[in-house]
Amino acid sequence: MNLERDLGDMRAYYRSGKTKEASWRKLQLQRLKAFLKEKERDIYRALNQDLGKHHVEAFRDELGVLQKSINFALQNLKEWMSSKKAKLPAVAVLSYAEIVPEPLGLVLIISSWNFPIGLSLEPLIGAIAAGNTVVLKPSELASASSSLLANALPTYIDSKAIKVIEGGPAVGEHLLQQKWDKIFFTGSTRVGRMVMSAAVKHLTPITLELGGKCPAIIDSLTSSWDKEAAVKRIIVSKYGPCAGQACIAIDYLLVEEKFTSTLVELLKVHIKKMFGENPRKSNSIARIINKHHFSRLKNLLNDPIVKDSIVYGGSMDEANLFIEPTVLLDPPLQAAIMTEEIFGPLLPIITRIEDSIDFINSRPKPLAIYAFTKNERLQRRMVSETSSGSIVFNDAVIQFVPDTLPFGGIGESGIGSYHGKFSFDEFSHHKPVARRSYLSEIWFRFPPWNNYKLQLFELVYNYDYLGMLLVILGLKRPRKVAI
Ligand code: NAD
Repeated sequence: MNLERDLGDMRAYYRSGKTKEASWRKLQLQRLKAFLKEKERDIYRALNQDLGKHHVEAFRDELGVLQKSINFALQNLKEWMSSKKAKLPAVAVLSYAEIVPEPLGLVLIISSWNFPIGLSLEPLIGAIAAGNTVVLKPSELASASSSLLANALPTYIDSKAIKVIEGGPAVGEHLLQQKWDKIFFTGSTRVGRMVMSAAVKHLTPITLELGGKCPAIIDSLTSSWDKEAAVKRIIVSKYGPCAGQACIAIDYLLVEEKFTSTLVELLKVHIKKMFGENPRKSNSIARIINKHHFSRLKNLLNDPIVKDSIVYGGSMDEANLFIEPTVLLDPPLQAAIMTEEIFGPLLPIITRIEDSIDFINSRPKPLAIYAFTKNERLQRRMVSETSSGSIVFNDAVIQFVPDTLPFGGIGESGIGSYHGKFSFDEFSHHKPVARRSYLSEIWFRFPPWNNYKLQLFELVYNYDYLGMLLVILGLKRPRKVAI
């Protein structure tokens, strides 16, 4: 394969205008939908091979979400593509303006391994809807999913416009050296920085969907109903999505001391209910992606200053890349488990020693903050006093699903956002188009200058049309500016 030549061909194809046609965009989305339907079993098999995901989890987190997103894009494509009339000030008589969305051109999507189908195709939906040509590089670590995308996708969609290129960091770096009209990256903050510096060369716009530590506060839950519901939601948001290998999974809990022992007991009961007495045998919890990440998690747990804080779980099976859902109580804040993104089924509980908001604000801005609380004052404070990609009260992770919510980070957790119309916008340029008539004129914009014209500009920019009329009729004296 000759990358430079292929990219040249893709640019030429883009210039032909084919991908801008509404019918082309619609057809590609329909074909993507057909791929998901007809390859359903292959997708489940690949996700199971890569991550040991149960097919129900695979449908909930990837396949089903994608089908929903495609349907939403198909329903709204016409409206998204339409140009929108823009209001002009009254002084611009006989002038008209509209905002026309145009595709960016040739875009690069680099995705991660934890939702290897979902996080590859979700941005692709937006890129196609917006009319771009696309190179997609899935993660080499989820090799079965990557090869399924590379082999099967071209038989469904227009392979002149959409290509899947497989490979690891070396391929990624080679791709980043090329000229793109947009780079959409999902992955670690470390590689995100490399993407950003590569983008500098051609001033390429970027979207970075990164990670970090997502905290969850539990505060003043009183009824046993609320406590149980919160605990079940915490478990499914920690160990549920890909065994915690999810950017928006809860990373750690901040809990008031009087609730910690009840919380630990409830976690034990409900972890057992969801994953059985012997979770090693459960097929409802995913496996760790590879030995490298397994060792990384093992080291977090085996850290001598952390070991004693394990209050539940902690067993591991390296041969099967399995780590038991694990709960830790008050590991030291300087331990790696509390300074690095955990990205696995280890849940530290931190007994609140200070104001939770100060605790969160003293760390990098997270991708998501969660709070299980009915305290409306705390909810209001959290919205106004913290900064994060998103906030969810009394649940977690669910913000990923609705097409109507922008999904993305802030600060070190990312740049830009997508899903639904936000994806379309992320892959579009919104071009203002203005039209003027020769029958009207804003005559005071032409030199030579005098204070009379200055006064008219001042009134126009303040939308003071009555004042303007008074000045023009000589009923108001122009302001004198002596320099
Ligand atoms: P990663 O950064 O190691 O890899 C992501 C992608 O970049 C892969 O396709 C990989 O092949 C490629 N890559 C790696 N090195 C590269 C290089 N030098 N040049 C170019 N490309 C390179 O991340 P990962 O391990 O796949 O994913 C885990 C991280 O991603 C976590 O931090 C997680 O929080 C984050 N993440 C974020 C989101 C989100 O939506 N915000 C979603 C999933 C994962």
